[in-house]
Amino acid sequence: MMEEQATNYLINHLPESKEWVKELEKQATLDKIPIMDPIGINFLMQLIRLNKPKRILEIGAAIGYSALRMNEAYPDAEIVTIERDDVRYEQAVENISKQNKQDSIRVIHGDALDELTTLQANHETFNCVFIDAAKGQYKRFFELSVPLLANNGFIISDNVLFRGYVMEENFEHPRYKKMVEKIKAYNEWLANHPSFITTILPIGDGVAISYRK
Ligand code: SAH
Ligand code: MG
Repeated sequence: MMEEQATNYLINHLPESKEWVKELEKQATLDKIPIMDPIGINFLMQLIRLNKPKRILEIGAAIGYSALRMNEAYPDAEIVTIERDDVRYEQAVENISKQNKQDSIRVIHGDALDELTTLQANHETFNCVFIDAAKGQYKRFFELSVPLLANNGFIISDNVLFRGYVMEENFEHPRYKKMVEKIKAYNEWLANHPSFITTILPIGDGVAISYRK
């Protein structure tokens, strides 16, 4: 998203990662799993350090990388993360157990569209929601998260600039055209949401921070 020179400079000034972090990043690269990039995850971690959300809900666990990093940033947080893919769910559970974090991070195996409704039925609330799953469903994920959000809660959405494609005027792409249109519509909808103040930052693949008024 940022120009290469800036990206390299910022990467060189990030905190040093622990060994297990590097291992998970390697696993993600090998298996082509779209975990948050270094600048994006460090930004998210800093937000978590600053806000200390007691309960965090993540939509899209993948292999558990971002959940473990949020726990690293604020170990007192109770994290719930949802993953629908069978293999990734197993990998997340395994990676979280390896770090002995199973008491702080609960992985739910299922489709977030169903699981968010279940969490609401169980009267669960969260101080922070991190949306990082199927890009075409962001509006639904957001709408289903609002009833779960505690006072002063905030919602973070990842990949809202999607490689910068959302800025292209006549974007044509056999695989991504529909998804990009959905993300563009989501960003417009977010920007005009009457109950939230949103800022979008060109960090990583684009991060939106939405604060409930
Ligand atoms: N947050 C992770 C990366 C998530 S990648 C990290 O940064 O480490 C997105 C994940 O969302 C994928 O593993 C995909 O299987 C999952 N996903 C997509 N749509 C979903 C849905 N509707 N419900 C649950 N998980 C979903
Ligand atoms: Mg992402």
